[in-house]
Amino acid sequence: MKALRIKHSFAGALGVLAMLALQQPAMAAGLDGVQVLDGFKELAGYVGSPFLLGGAWLAVKITLIAMAIGLALGLGLALMRLSRFKALSSAAWGYIWFVRGTPQLLQLVFIFDALPLIGLRFDEFTTAVIGFALNEAAFSAELFRAGILSVNRSQSTAAAALGMGPLLTLRRIILPQSMRAIIPGLANDTIGMLKLTSIASVIFVNELTFRSQQIVGQNFKFFTVFGAAAVIYLFLTSGISVLQVWLERMFDHERDRKIAFSWFGLRVSTRDAKPVEAPIALPVAAQETEANDHAWIGTLLPADSRTPRRADEPFVACRNVWKSYAKREILRGVDLSIAHGEVVVILGPSGSGKSTLLKLINHLEPLDWGTIKVDSQYVGYREVPGGGGTVRPVHNLARARAEARVGMVFQHFNLFSHLSALENIVEAQRQVYDVPRAEAEALGRDLLKSVGLAAHADFLPHRLSGGQQQRVAIARALAIKPKLMLFDEPTSALDPELVGEVLGVMRGLADAGMTMVVVTHEIRFARDVADRVVFMDGGEVIEQGTPQQVIDNPTHERTRKFLNVVAS
Ligand code: ADP
Ligand code: MG
Repeated sequence: MKALRIKHSFAGALGVLAMLALQQPAMAAGLDGVQVLDGFKELAGYVGSPFLLGGAWLAVKITLIAMAIGLALGLGLALMRLSRFKALSSAAWGYIWFVRGTPQLLQLVFIFDALPLIGLRFDEFTTAVIGFALNEAAFSAELFRAGILSVNRSQSTAAAALGMGPLLTLRRIILPQSMRAIIPGLANDTIGMLKLTSIASVIFVNELTFRSQQIVGQNFKFFTVFGAAAVIYLFLTSGISVLQVWLERMFDHERDRKIAFSWFGLRVSTRDAKPVEAPIALPVAAQETEANDHAWIGTLLPADSRTPRRADEPFVACRNVWKSYAKREILRGVDLSIAHGEVVVILGPSGSGKSTLLKLINHLEPLDWGTIKVDSQYVGYREVPGGGGTVRPVHNLARARAEARVGMVFQHFNLFSHLSALENIVEAQRQVYDVPRAEAEALGRDLLKSVGLAAHADFLPHRLSGGQQQRVAIARALAIKPKLMLFDEPTSALDPELVGEVLGVMRGLADAGMTMVVVTHEIRFARDVADRVVFMDGGEVIEQGTPQQVIDNPTHERTRKFLNVVAS
């Protein structure tokens, strides 16, 4: 239906163009119908002429090559612009400022005349490609930057927590999601470049417009020859427009589709054969038939996660941890030890630094002072040899996170929105831990089954309820075979009736012996499941003890106040 409409509008546009090109001047010249028809035939003849088509092919070649180079450079420039290194971002900004601010015609002439001066001699075609590519780099850099910024930061946080490095995250998570925002601008640029190749005639590139001018210079048939050139341009740019429509659909992650192919992580998919209406009713039905089989979880925990590296040290040891944001002290000397297999619930008012502490344990944020060890190892730091316990940040932070095997579950789930439930679980296994596809998928399906979502493997996150999304997120974290699971208010964003299903999975995990740190306001969960409750306020541990001690007989006034607020 869409394709038909496009064809119609294309034909219509051609008709209008032909009328403009021929009819009015024909009437003004007093031509009759037969002469107009002859004019059309002549125009059609020029459209099919090898001379003009050869010029068009040259324009297409310049556009294709320059676009490919320009996009690669543009992506690099965009990353430089987004870099936290001032020198890089300033250099990229300066380049974009200069190229956008000067006429392209002058740039071309300049490159044509200047390159030979530094000993670089290229033919006209190559010069044109270089000129257009350098120009496109500046424009596409801003498109890429806008696209990257349009993807929620929580996506890269989730990727980092799974041990994915910045480039991997960009390629597999950020770019696929930003393509929809980038494509319309890229189509504009491509069309603009194809038409602008005509200015390459100033450096003697013999392309379409230049060739039309040569013919007109000989026979003075302005309308027919230029009309024919316009028809060829219109045909080519229409091709780009159709490609744009197709690509936009392929990268539309709200649609339910099957993956058709995946290229450098840019997954392209075709529409799912399933009708969209039917599966909406499915989750409820599927939920009834699936048991929340928590016994499974125990068998999924890897053996080595059950035996700590050193029995004489706490499994998680936070020592005198300080952290500030913009000179505001968020954590003020936190000391916390967690035993292997222990379930610790952290309570505390909003802003007391609970999330920050979890992020530091997984090194999603660097420490300002103090040390944190997980299973007797620093995460993201290494001891300086002979430095008397001094630590330095490691270079490959992503690998350090991956090796630490700390699973993290977020308040807002942070599922990768362009990937199905199963693909969310498979992604880090494949990309970070090099697990063979079959094995990763088998574990993914087992985990989905264990959180009661076996029937939802192919669902995209937007088609799952909040509780289901959070269960997938737990399964995703478990897929990296974590030694430690961190939960940051996993049920705070859920409707009350969905809280139970997530807490149920967490209970199962605790029963299976997983070491867990859970930030939550669910007092009943804390009472039932926690081995220890820690109350934090103002970036400090105020008190800790068994649930009975802290919840039922708090010694500190601030704890009492907080519990009263939460209870009411
Ligand atoms: P909690 O999870 O206990 O509610 P957080 O650890 O999220 O508290 O945050 C503690 C304080 O740190 C908050 O006041 C928050 O505004 C601030 N904060 C957290 N992350 C950042 C950040 N990346 N930049 C600046 N301030 C932050
Ligand atoms: Mg928080």
